[in-house]
Amino acid sequence: MSAIHYWNYPTEIFCGPGALNTLAERCALLGMRRPLIVTDPGMLALAPLALLKAHLTAAQVEFGVFSDIASNPSLNDVAKGVAAFKAGQHDALIALGGGSAMDAAKGISLASVDVDGLQRFEWSQILQHYPTLQAFETLQLPRLIALPTTAGTGSELGREAVLTDTEQQIKRVVSHPELLPSAVILDPVLTRDLPPTLTAATGMDALTHHIEAFCSPLYHPMSAGVAVEGVRLIQQHLLAAYTEGHNLVAREGMLVASAMAAVAFQKGLGGVHALAHPLGARYHKHHGLLNAILLPYVLVANRSTISSDIARLARYLELPKADFDGFLAWVLGLRQQVGIPHSLAEIGLSDEHAEWVGEQALADISSSDTNARPLTATEYSQIFRNAVRGDLPGAHA
Ligand SMILES: [Zn+2]
Repeated sequence: MSAIHYWNYPTEIFCGPGALNTLAERCALLGMRRPLIVTDPGMLALAPLALLKAHLTAAQVEFGVFSDIASNPSLNDVAKGVAAFKAGQHDALIALGGGSAMDAAKGISLASVDVDGLQRFEWSQILQHYPTLQAFETLQLPRLIALPTTAGTGSELGREAVLTDTEQQIKRVVSHPELLPSAVILDPVLTRDLPPTLTAATGMDALTHHIEAFCSPLYHPMSAGVAVEGVRLIQQHLLAAYTEGHNLVAREGMLVASAMAAVAFQKGLGGVHALAHPLGARYHKHHGLLNAILLPYVLVANRSTISSDIARLARYLELPKADFDGFLAWVLGLRQQVGIPHSLAEIGLSDEHAEWVGEQALADISSSDTNARPLTATEYSQIFRNAVRGDLPGAHA
């Protein structure tokens, strides 16, 4: 438990209680002389930032703090961050927080070097112009070290940033190989004060990443293997992390599962994320909470395509009923135990704009085209309506 593990898969990972204390040495080895800490405003009064600042101060590392970001960071937040980065003459970034801090830090890194970077490396451009990682030009972006304080997005191990275009009310996915953090520090001490509601929503986001990646039709057996073990870690640790926040074994298990999910979803995501992205942009609800509510409805919609794979996963999890229905019952049970509502209506959404949601979900090329089976805009609208009302057709749980 006390050991700090070192992995490089797909980047350097330091994992374990107290892993924060490896940071200053990493900064020195990576040539980071004057990092800008990017965090969300809610973190300013919390222990993780205090611990981070104390560690850097003790190691005589000069740093600044930028926290002017929304919970779904926008292109405008990134522009403000770039201004702070330049004004403070920073040469590197440290992201401390959940997905919003990670995504904002990545956006700042890219936009600080390439003013058109957020457009040039937007997902649709990438699919057209950069078929492999080698096809990207080298930008020599500022180094980034990521310290997650939630266990959900896995953004610390990703090359993507999700940024909200507030004018068009859509989320833009930006990707470049150099957005992958140079080092990742998974210290469960930084997550132990995460409130139960956020522990639940972020943990269910990680679960959704693993399940959607596992069900994606893309051929990627390595990621499929990671997804299977990731689901098992969440089965083992999410409830304990939710009910006993200071249980560092559970917190570490969830941090590892969340990071692994970013490796798993190289295989793709699916309909849950295709729906959650436009809903998050329009209604400003927490990404993980939206996924947690939507997950069973999309599983049922995909049932005919995924039932034998899900049965195999259910056997690995040693569920009492090792088939699709048993798995769905497990998801519903876990979701309820960690206090997630069953319907979108319970968090204030109506199906008034169901057609728009369906069209946007279909257009979400970061995830809709890797759903287990192709869904039409009409089908996405129907899944959304079901999730608003809490109707789970085809569930025999
Ligand atoms: Zn997600």
